[in-house]
Amino acid sequence: MSTVYPASTEAQERETLTASDLAWEQELNPWLAAEARFNIAAERLGMDEGLQKVLRTPSREITVYIPVMMDDGRIEVFTGYRVQHSIARGPAKGGLRYAPDVTLEEVRALASWMTWKCAVANIPFGGGKGGVICTPSLLSQSELERITRRYTADILEFIGPEKDIPAPDMNTNEQVMAWMMDTYSMHNRQTTTAVVTGKPLDLGGSRGRKEATGRGCMIVALEALKKFGMKPEETRVVIQGFGNVGGMAAMLMARAGFKVISIIEYDGALYNANGLDIDALMEHRKETGSINEFPGADSIDPHEALYLPCDILLPAAKENVITSRTAPKLNCKIIVEGANGPTTAPADEILQQKGVFVIPDILANAGGVTVSYFEWVQDRQGYFWNEQLVNERLTELMVEGFSAVTKYGDTHGVHNRTAAYMLALDRVAFAIKLRGLYA
Ligand code: NAD
Repeated sequence: MSTVYPASTEAQERETLTASDLAWEQELNPWLAAEARFNIAAERLGMDEGLQKVLRTPSREITVYIPVMMDDGRIEVFTGYRVQHSIARGPAKGGLRYAPDVTLEEVRALASWMTWKCAVANIPFGGGKGGVICTPSLLSQSELERITRRYTADILEFIGPEKDIPAPDMNTNEQVMAWMMDTYSMHNRQTTTAVVTGKPLDLGGSRGRKEATGRGCMIVALEALKKFGMKPEETRVVIQGFGNVGGMAAMLMARAGFKVISIIEYDGALYNANGLDIDALMEHRKETGSINEFPGADSIDPHEALYLPCDILLPAAKENVITSRTAPKLNCKIIVEGANGPTTAPADEILQQKGVFVIPDILANAGGVTVSYFEWVQDRQGYFWNEQLVNERLTELMVEGFSAVTKYGDTHGVHNRTAAYMLALDRVAFAIKLRGLYA
């Protein structure tokens, strides 16, 4: 008997470990996270099963195999995807990512995410996403150009200003969009700038696009302050990620009077209780390549910085930062989700118990896709707006989005994330019902 007990305890421990590992793995899976939020919202809406089936299923998935001549004369075949999740409210809209580990499942989930984001932003787009399995750091510019052009040619009949409008995402940029636009235009026998967004300004890009996501974060943060009777000058902000979204949000918020007390990067974090000089920090990073050793702040542990007492925490780096492990230790009143999927589904519940006011990603970071919509509109008009007009219209839509989500939450007695998903599902379902099923 004495040999049985230890063995069974060990076995139990192993089992427990495996179960908790599995739970942790599942918590970090963004597709399961999106599914969890969809389920809660659909249930609260009392949505019928059939409609749920339509909303869960992408309307089209395209896989292409792209033969490309490499610089050394070898022929390689790359795999590319384009998923159009929904076109109920307008053409599909969403980025194109280049990465070695892109999967169809990932692209499918990201495409549905775009459907909900465009619906919350109330812009006339559905959701789409694309990906090509490749390692951009191992490719020359000319190889990247050939991959991009052949990918575009292979999905040509499925994209277009009225069908599906790609944009940059992970490892793709303005140059990739310029090649896509040119390839489409050559086949189309006319310059068609509105086929992609995120283009260079000289090729039909929009003013204000670079700052749009960070600006959108600031706009919704200001709306939250109004709700709580707070002033920017009294508001301490901690921002994780000093890239496009976090850097622009920090710059604009500091200029608007917020006290940005901490910036967290993967290799270091800065702290100044009186607020950092963000313009000077930008200069410092430009000169040294890092935020570290900035003279106007103390260096602190980036892992601990997340738990600093503050009014607003703005995660703008990556997904799965606020988890069941980190959420209990947070010390903030408001979370503005600049990044996509920074909070896991189990962390949602913890934040609710702590009474944190969360502005969810599909609302908080919708500024980027909103100005992409403006770019598409300007391209189709052939008339370009000044930056002030872009910013005014962005403010109008972000404020409307914030108001719609919070009102929806108040009416239905749910938190902002569930409210945002309910609003999105409701809007897309309404469009489907109005259009009817074509058979
Ligand atoms: P980016 O690459 O410009 O910036 C990300 C920054 O975060 C980098 O400076 C990086 O060093 C830092 N970072 C990475 N890992 C980190 C870590 N563990 N801790 C602290 N810092 C870390 O990317 P971005 O365009 O700013 O995007 C950031 C997030 O916002 C992503 O989730 C993206 O999907 C989302 N987003 C971006 C846009 C947009 O318009 N760029 C729009 C919507 C959502």
